Amino acid sequence: MVVEDEQAIRTVVEYALEDAGFEVVSVARGDDALRMIQDQPVDLVILDLMLPGVDGLEVCKRIRAERGTPIIILSARGEELDKVLGLELGADDYVTKPFSPRELVSRVRANLRRARSEPDRGQSLRAGDLEIDPVARTVTRGEEEVHLTFSEFEILHKLASSPRRVFTREELMNHLWEGSFFGDLRSVDVHVRHLRQKVEDDASNPTLIRTVRGVGYAFGADVARV
Ligand code: CA
Repeated sequence: MVVEDEQAIRTVVEYALEDAGFEVVSVARGDDALRMIQDQPVDLVILDLMLPGVDGLEVCKRIRAERGTPIIILSARGEELDKVLGLELGADDYVTKPFSPRELVSRVRANLRRARSEPDRGQSLRAGDLEIDPVARTVTRGEEEVHLTFSEFEILHKLASSPRRVFTREELMNHLWEGSFFGDLRSVDVHVRHLRQKVEDDASNPTLIRTVRGVGYAFGADVARV
């Protein structure tokens, strides 16, 4: 589903997706998108932010509250990145305008592949009171469950699977996108910031997810496989 009020962009996106073999429904208004998705579930949503009716952030929030459909935000504004990938919204990806239709199509493919991929079969990882269960895809601290987005979970699990090993931002994004990532590496930093707020005792003085200046990130604690 393409939700975009600018007809020129809508047409380009529709054409690119149909050309790639996807079936596309498109709407120009946020309220129409919400109505339509109730009657006709879709596999993925491409969502503009500035929309008549109900704006894109609200559409994202409401879809996310009900279903796990992958959402790619089309954003003209870099500064929305934080909000979009943030806790409340939990969009899966974003593409900044202007974008190449080819890039958008590969992001759609990557998101669909990711949404359909089998969950990891592996042992749980434990570091202090933090436990990461890759089968149930849950994270707990003591008795408390920590709610992570898909990307936050993947980054945490990747880092904790090889404690002390330094991962570059490129490595982490390529892991998230199964090697097909191209885009803005700053989104790694946004995910890590949110992750720290959820799993660190003191997010401003992180001990689990360490920044390795000029390189990337590493898991800073000992990990037991349980
Ligand atoms: Ca718009």
